[in-house]
Amino acid sequence: MRITYACPSCDATVSSDGIEARATLACTACGAAVAVPADAFNADPPPRLRRCVVCPSTELFSRKDFPQRAGVAIVVAGFAASCVAWAWRELVLTFAILFGTALVDVVLYVLMPECLSCYRCGARYRGAGVGGTFAGFDLETHEKHRQQAARLRAGATHGS
Ligand SMILES: [Zn+2]
Ligand SMILES: [Zn+2]
Repeated sequence: MRITYACPSCDATVSSDGIEARATLACTACGAAVAVPADAFNADPPPRLRRCVVCPSTELFSRKDFPQRAGVAIVVAGFAASCVAWAWRELVLTFAILFGTALVDVVLYVLMPECLSCYRCGARYRGAGVGGTFAGFDLETHEKHRQQAARLRAGATHGS
């Protein structure tokens, strides 16, 4: 399993592979270590993620690991190509292109693997063992964590 997270010490984006076999993760920028909690994965193989490794949160959501920009680029390219075909009065080709781009988008989406994100710290998990344990994105949970983070920030500035 691969993790991408923001280093808690220096905020650098760190990627690390094979985290199910590691005891600590080290930041490539500042060297700060994050201990992988003993209960981060279930005991039975194959290892499945049970909680966030970087922060104490047990709330994660699963989503398709689909690069949104690529999806938009495909649609825009398809639309441009269909406009050209339309200008040439190639009616069948125009609709074939439009239908084809929609189909490519759907197929890509289905083929894309799942990834997990932490609501609290935004760490991302990819690879084997991320599926099955967590539900999709929930706005209420997201809002709860956002407000918690805001309160923490407010508390830090007031020194309480
Ligand atoms: Zn760091
Ligand atoms: Zn987290």
